[in-house]
Amino acid sequence: MSYLAKNYNRKKISFKFGKGSYLYSTDGKKYLDFVSGIAVNSLGHAHPKLVKTIKDQSKKLWHVSNAFQIPEGEKLAKKLCKKTFADYVMFQNSGAEATEAAIKVARRYFYSIGKPKKNRILCIKNSFHGRTIAAIFASGSKKMTEGFGPKVPGFDHFRFGDHKSLKKKITKNTAAIMVETIMGEGGIKEIPDWCLKDLRKLCNEKKILLILDEVQCGISRSGDFFAFEKSKVKPDIVPIAKGIGGGFPIGAVLMNKKVAKGMTPGTHGSTFGGNTLAMAVGNTVMDIVSNKKFLKNIKNLSKYFLSSLNKLKEKYPHIIKEIRGRGLLIGIQLHKDQTKFIKRLMDNKLLTIRAAENVVRILPPLNVKKNEIYQALKIINKVCLESK
Ligand SMILES: *Cc1c(COP(=O)(O)O)cnc(C)c1O
Repeated sequence: MSYLAKNYNRKKISFKFGKGSYLYSTDGKKYLDFVSGIAVNSLGHAHPKLVKTIKDQSKKLWHVSNAFQIPEGEKLAKKLCKKTFADYVMFQNSGAEATEAAIKVARRYFYSIGKPKKNRILCIKNSFHGRTIAAIFASGSKKMTEGFGPKVPGFDHFRFGDHKSLKKKITKNTAAIMVETIMGEGGIKEIPDWCLKDLRKLCNEKKILLILDEVQCGISRSGDFFAFEKSKVKPDIVPIAKGIGGGFPIGAVLMNKKVAKGMTPGTHGSTFGGNTLAMAVGNTVMDIVSNKKFLKNIKNLSKYFLSSLNKLKEKYPHIIKEIRGRGLLIGIQLHKDQTKFIKRLMDNKLLTIRAAENVVRILPPLNVKKNEIYQALKIINKVCLESK
């Protein structure tokens, strides 16, 4: 009997240890881990540099209050700002906290310029921004909000790709549009570059803020440090989490100078957010994944992976409907429910995870080796063959 609450439908498998792209189960089997803790283990398991960072830092200092200076956090914030659109960073512990903080920054900005009624956030219906009370109502998903009322006010919704409804839903009280650059849980659906550009233009015209949630698609996952970089669009606020900690819980919200003005002393805080041990890990992850050569390698691996998957799609058009994604954030959309397919991949020692719209989501570590992708492709081919 398990004393854990039943809020997850867990697979009957557990792991003893991991190394690189592999997980070793307690019953002695070796799995290719293409889930990476859902885009979290960006450097795979037990990366020597991360192990060393934790070892060294854990002997010196783990945690001090944000009442004091934290040099490791200063260092990571500087790296994030030098690399991106951002001027300031506020550290949290998770993605949901980061998206909530993003909402707070947007509202507080308009409050600080004397427009407190401009506080509504416009989001995509059935998107995903985390599981806190505000974040579930931001998602507008019936399934996630059911039984958790009363409804949190302040969120409006439009459907993915429905530009008419998006424009209609903007009112004088809209503070920000918040969307995922690439929808992760929603089925690896990208907002095309031209749409991102139009969104930015629309926000400028209506004097509202653009929040791009890069909790899943950010931190080099897409082959660029941020997925929106390719479009040349500059957002105002960007929540991040997952990949930046490499397995250590870290979240953050990045913001430009304009909106940061509202965040004066006392307006937000987090006991654990940005603590010394977390920041030491974040610095090591950042140094590796933001490196130009590292990013170029992700793009090359992605090209190989995506083109090979597209060949499988041509070979099995009755099974695979569409190959989606960018970088190492990949979705295989099937014609029918993906549960059995994922189970068969697992029986063949390849771990993947579901997303909406019958998508098998594939998230290898960002330092995955080409021959590991080759192994995964062989398994996917075998499962397609047997699914006939
Ligand atoms: C995972 C995710 C979140 C929530 O992150 P948690 O760390 O689980 O709170 C928010 N936004 C997006 C886009 C995500 O993929």
